[in-house]
Amino acid sequence: MRLVVLGSGTSVPHPQRASAAFWLETDGGSLLLDCSADAPHRMAQENLDWPNLDAIWISHLHLDHSGGLASLLFGMKWASQTQSRRKPLKMFSCAGLERVLKAIDDSNDYGLFKQPFPVELHECSDSPSEFEPFEGLRCATFSTPHTRESLALRATDSEQKTMVYSSDTGFSEELATFARDADLFVLECSFYEAKPVQTHLELAEAMRIAQLAEPRKLLLTHLYPEWDEIDLEATARALWPGETIAARDGLRLEI
Ligand SMILES: [Zn+2]
Ligand SMILES: [Zn+2]
Repeated sequence: MRLVVLGSGTSVPHPQRASAAFWLETDGGSLLLDCSADAPHRMAQENLDWPNLDAIWISHLHLDHSGGLASLLFGMKWASQTQSRRKPLKMFSCAGLERVLKAIDDSNDYGLFKQPFPVELHECSDSPSEFEPFEGLRCATFSTPHTRESLALRATDSEQKTMVYSSDTGFSEELATFARDADLFVLECSFYEAKPVQTHLELAEAMRIAQLAEPRKLLLTHLYPEWDEIDLEATARALWPGETIAARDGLRLEI
């Protein structure tokens, strides 16, 4: 399993950090984890095979995680690279995505669901939910304290390698249980300290979750601009001795 960081940032425009998106690839297929407005072009920038993308996961409806989905569908509808595609594009999401996409679609004659290939949308309205975006990848969800619909994802491939993506979350010991023993734990770490809201994490909380979850590797992401001035990996190491990596756009990890 391989992960490419497309966007390690937040909703705040930043010169080096696009908003949230990750490309997860196994021998069985590819899964886009969140689709910020930056994601469609970031996939092309990283030379990823976006015309053959198998599936998309949308963790919650905040626009720094879902705002690129309508543009991606619009782009795939007209791109020369997708005209001969017949393989379905499967979307899996939190509750409410269909309503949002339909509202955009109905606001003009975009025809987002009329593609050269079938488009399927499955909302995980119950949590926990389980699904298989493509053969060989099993996914499970966990409801996070961020928004009513927000979900973390645990993905396990046919070799039993596991990646957990928290997306946005407040502090939760149950999240650590959900993420336990992951080979890679992609965890949000929005703020350094004195977080302004309860629905995100600051460093000490992220490291407490890491301590409980004991992942093989920890990737901290969703970094607000205040991190620009701080050595995240060094400060993280002082709180948890495991391997912590600060996410940056373009980073590629083998899981
Ligand atoms: Zn966010
Ligand atoms: Zn959010």
